[in-house]
Amino acid sequence: MTESVECVVVGAGVVGLAIARALALQGREVIVLEAEEAIGTHTSSRNSEVIHAGIYYPAGSLKAKLCVEGKKALYPYCKALGVPFDNCGKLIVACSEAELAGLEKIRKQALANGVDDLTFVEPAVVRQMEPEVQCLGALQSPSTGIIDSHSLMVAYQGEAEAGGTMIAFHSPVASGRVVEGGVELTVGGENPMQLHCRILVNSAGLGAPALGAALQGFPQDHVPPGYLCKGNYFTLSGVKSPFRRLIYPAPEQAGLGVHVTIDMGGQARFGPDVEWVDKMDYNVDPKRSESFYAAIRRYWPGLPDGALAPGYSGMRPKLQKPGEPAKDFMIEGPKDHGVPGVVQLFGIESPGLTASLAIADLVVEKLAA
Ligand SMILES: Cc1cc2nc3c(=O)[nH]c(=O)nc-3n(C[C@H](O)[C@H](O)[C@H](O)COP(=O)(O)OP(=O)(O)OC[C@H]3O[C@@H](n4cnc5c(N)ncnc54)[C@H](O)[C@@H]3O)c2cc1C
Repeated sequence: MTESVECVVVGAGVVGLAIARALALQGREVIVLEAEEAIGTHTSSRNSEVIHAGIYYPAGSLKAKLCVEGKKALYPYCKALGVPFDNCGKLIVACSEAELAGLEKIRKQALANGVDDLTFVEPAVVRQMEPEVQCLGALQSPSTGIIDSHSLMVAYQGEAEAGGTMIAFHSPVASGRVVEGGVELTVGGENPMQLHCRILVNSAGLGAPALGAALQGFPQDHVPPGYLCKGNYFTLSGVKSPFRRLIYPAPEQAGLGVHVTIDMGGQARFGPDVEWVDKMDYNVDPKRSESFYAAIRRYWPGLPDGALAPGYSGMRPKLQKPGEPAKDFMIEGPKDHGVPGVVQLFGIESPGLTASLAIADLVVEKLAA
């Protein structure tokens, strides 16, 4: 027998939960289908937990727009809902003359994105702010912060459920078929079933391209291939974090460089690096620490030998292959691909956590258009 529901959101990561919340706040009937046993077991719990300012992304891109809007919405949301966060700020440090010259380019890019609060900091002032950091100069970003991402997801889940949303765990969506008045989904797992929905939001993160490809009757030229780019983290063991703010080197091609972030407990972690992979494997190879020592000692020469311990890793859901230029988020609704009631989200890598509230608003907008 085919069950029926108004809206299905596939994926209970931070983005899927934010979307479920937004749809529930509109008074819609929502089921979230999640393959795993709990919320946020993939990318949403394997990231840097940074509230990004919106500095580096190309002007006019969805990443730039949704990051800036998302950040503006996220701080008051955290205050209102009691989600732990710290607006600690960050320093982008230049360790060579070339990087120093590059800081001005970064400041202009930020300005183009509406981030107008970056200021240049002389090395002597950096030393007062962060005595262990060595650099030729830095940009300070006061609107950057850190957040407890699990608490954020619990807050979204709580509001969605208060609005009547049901979250079904162990419910992998295997495939679907576009039918009259919606989509019919084949759900596997513990309770296999056919489920008809009028509205389908594919927010399956790393699984989104595979799900898009398994939707019969959906135009496949609107489903991009996905690639995996692992980011490994190392933590500081046996040494107290000497940093009060986040410290970022000048950015590199596929990531933001091996930076220092601090979790809400004050523990320092380093990463993520960039490792293109063919399959999912969250293990961290301890040998990768060698390149971490070299990268970190450029701005923290005092990092003691043996202080780095393998931490965790996350997978960036990339839409480009290694070496290709970075691609933007791809969020398409009925006006883009022509199928009523369907919104698909692809390539929701960083700054997806920061942007989650703004992404959810965009999905609601696309469904109304
Ligand atoms: C290394 C790294 C560092 C990052 N750092 C930051 C940062 O500091 N700040 C920031 O703003 N962003 C950061 N991000 C980005 C951020 O983590 C992601 O944008 C965000 O977590 C994406 O959430 P999501 O809900 O789209 O995906 P996910 O959290 O991956 O959730 C998708 C869910 O879909 C489920 N699923 C998949 N396929 C199916 C299926 N067929 N049926 C049912 N369920 C399915 C999965 O089990 C999963 O739970 C980082 C990302 C990485 C990889």
